[in-house]
Amino acid sequence: DGPSCRAALPSFKLYMADLESALHYSLRVEATRPSVLSGAQLAAFKCYVATLVKYFPGRPSVQTYLQNLDSLERHFRGYPCGLWTIFHLLTVQAAQNEAESWGEVLSTMRCYVRNFFGCQECAEHFEAMAAKSMEKVASREESVLWLWSHHNEVNARLAGGDTEDPKFPKLQWPPPDMCPLCHKEELGVHAWVVPAVVVFLKAHFSPANIYMDYAE
Ligand code: FAD
Repeated sequence: DGPSCRAALPSFKLYMADLESALHYSLRVEATRPSVLSGAQLAAFKCYVATLVKYFPGRPSVQTYLQNLDSLERHFRGYPCGLWTIFHLLTVQAAQNEAESWGEVLSTMRCYVRNFFGCQECAEHFEAMAAKSMEKVASREESVLWLWSHHNEVNARLAGGDTEDPKFPKLQWPPPDMCPLCHKEELGVHAWVVPAVVVFLKAHFSPANIYMDYAE
C-alpha cells in the first residue's frame, strides 16, 4: 500500500509532507518496481518525471531531485548493471579459487534470476540462454567466458533498442579502446582473441580494480 494521505480528510490545506510522501512512493517504489523500464512503461515514466519537473511546486531540494532524475535517465543503468557486475566478479573470483565449487556461481545466478529478477522478460531470455548451454560449461575459465559471451549476446540484442542509453551504447564488450589485444580481424571479419579476453576479465573484475572511495 502507498502512503496515507491527510489531504483525504476534510481540510482546507494541502500538506507538502503528504505530497512528498506520495512522490517518494510513486517514483521510488511503484513506477520503478520493474528492474528495467522499457517501451510504454519507460515512456510513461519519462513523461511523468518531465511533468513533475515542469509543474510540481516542490521545495527547492525536491525540485533539484526531480531535475536530476529527469536528466540522469537513471532507469537506463543502475541495478541490472550492478547485478551483471556482481556475477562477473563472482565468476572471476571463483575461477581464481582452487576449490572445486567454481560451477556454483553460474547455477546460482541462473537460480537467482529465475526466482527473483524483477524483469520477467529478461529472466525468460536469460533462462533460455542458460537452458541451451550453461550445463556444457566444463571449467573455471569457461564459466567466466560463458557469462561474458552471453552478456554480449544480450548487449547485441538490445543494441539500438529503446532501453539503450545513447551515452552508453550497447557495445560488444570490452571494446577495442578498453582492450586492444582482445580483438583481431580474420579475413576482414572481427574475431575475439579469447586468451586476451580472459586476462582482461580477470584484471577488470578483480578486487584490486574496485574503487573503494564512496564519495562521488
Ligand atoms: P550492462 O549491460 O548492465 O553492463 C554492466 C557493465 O558490465 C557495463 O557497464 C560494462 O562495464 C560491463 N559489461 C558489459 N558487457 C559485458 C560483458 N559482455 N562481459 C562483462 N562485462 C560486461 N534488458 C532488456 O531490455 N532485455 C533483456 O532481455 C535483458 N536481460 C537481462 C538479463 C540479465 C540477467 C540482466 C542482469 C539484465 C538484463 N537486462 C535486459 C538489462 C540489460 O542487460 C542491462 O543491464 C541494462 O540495460 C543496463 O545496461 P548498461 O548499459 O548499464 O550495462
